[in-house]
Amino acid sequence: MDKDCLFCKIIAGEIPSAKVYEDDAVFAFKDISPIAPTHYLFVPKTHICCAKKITAENSQYVAKIFEAIAKVSEQENIESYRVINNCGEDAGQSVMHLHFHLVAGKKMGWGEQSLG
Ligand code: AMP
Ligand code: ZN
Repeated sequence: MDKDCLFCKIIAGEIPSAKVYEDDAVFAFKDISPIAPTHYLFVPKTHICCAKKITAENSQYVAKIFEAIAKVSEQENIESYRVINNCGEDAGQSVMHLHFHLVAGKKMGWGEQSLG
């Protein structure tokens, strides 16, 4: 846990969130500013700043996140979805705790501005 990290505080329950999934490695909750009818964030329950810091030692968290995404999308009958990871400033990463956006419920274009 990083005491200054927003998502670590959400995982610890210090800041409220609308939880959609939890297991021993993964926590998922609704994005506070959704860009689509369904917009969830999947985060590892350990502090990893960003995709650049995924290593052989912690990549199991990423595997578990994708397993969780598959489970949640099946449970909620989400047929088609996009998974997004923003890494670094130019890509738009605003919270420095690794997270994957699950976005669904609308027709999505492809290209730089496709998700507005
Ligand atoms: P990114 O820009 O890829 O770093 O994504 C960070 C996401 O966190 C944004 O989509 C925000 O809307 C979302 N966010 C920020 N604060 C909260 C919060 N307290 N609860 C839920 N989502 C949040
Ligand atoms: Zn954190």
